Amino acid sequence: MQWLRRLFGRAEETPFLLLHVRCGRCGAVVQTRINLYNDLSVEYDDREEIAGYWIRKELMDDRCFRLMAAELRFDRQRRLLSQEVTGGQIITAEEYAQARQQAK
Ligand SMILES: [Zn+2]
Repeated sequence: MQWLRRLFGRAEETPFLLLHVRCGRCGAVVQTRINLYNDLSVEYDDREEIAGYWIRKELMDDRCFRLMAAELRFDRQRRLLSQEVTGGQIITAEEYAQARQQAK
């Protein structure tokens, strides 16, 4: 069970979120990794207190090379509140894996 403990240990050190996106023009899929501690920007409320976190990340697929922009918002506990992508759509990890399989 040593490997299991190692896996969990690592996940706790750097919590990250995997974002999967399908290009709105050519249908290619892209995966990107967001580090919930290093990559997010702080958002303050009127009283200068931390209201939440957000990130804007640009993505590009390797087929038509069109730039897509993902915007994600998180609460103070860094839990995902909303996510949207300009130029593409968010898909699940399963849909991403399936699309990669078919592309081979
Ligand atoms: Zn594309």
